[in-house]
Amino acid sequence: MKEGVVKKGQDIGVGRGIEPNPVGSKYAGIEVKESDLRDGRYMSIRYSAMFRYRWDTGIAVGRFLEGLRDGRIVGSRCNVCKRILVPPRVFCELDFAQIDDWVYVYDTGRVNTYSISYIDKQARRMSSPVIVAVVELDGASQGMGIMHLLGEVRPEDVYVGMRVKAVWRSREERKGAITDIVYFKPL
Ligand SMILES: [Zn+2]
Repeated sequence: MKEGVVKKGQDIGVGRGIEPNPVGSKYAGIEVKESDLRDGRYMSIRYSAMFRYRWDTGIAVGRFLEGLRDGRIVGSRCNVCKRILVPPRVFCELDFAQIDDWVYVYDTGRVNTYSISYIDKQARRMSSPVIVAVVELDGASQGMGIMHLLGEVRPEDVYVGMRVKAVWRSREERKGAITDIVYFKPL
């Protein structure tokens, strides 16, 4: 389709590749009747749109995901309150200070809280449960942790304060996602 200014009353056509009708052409301003469509006087086109897009992670989550791809857990440090935040962020919610100090924390930690779930991510009931936990990571400030799955442990054996360690995917399998860690297992 040509670019340019659409004049009042001009039929600009519908769909890709249809040239606009010039003003005063025999189709300009003619109403399309139901019978015209039924009798096939006008062509109709059906198509499926394919959208390609990218999602911007932002600075802090981007660094966090890059770290996971390298098999490390990245945090950020506030130079005002000295807390080490995981997952990292670029501002401190206590001081409103900007943060640009990046650190690695350990892939070990302790279970802060956990839940035994019989429902999967699609809200379908499962016969055997998954254990979802918030793991406070060693090297990060108190209360800083990530939510993940626990593995290699029976639900009845999990407790708050249990020491755990990340089980990583192999270097070739990692792709910069939270699932680069398969689960945390008892230490
Ligand atoms: Zn702070």
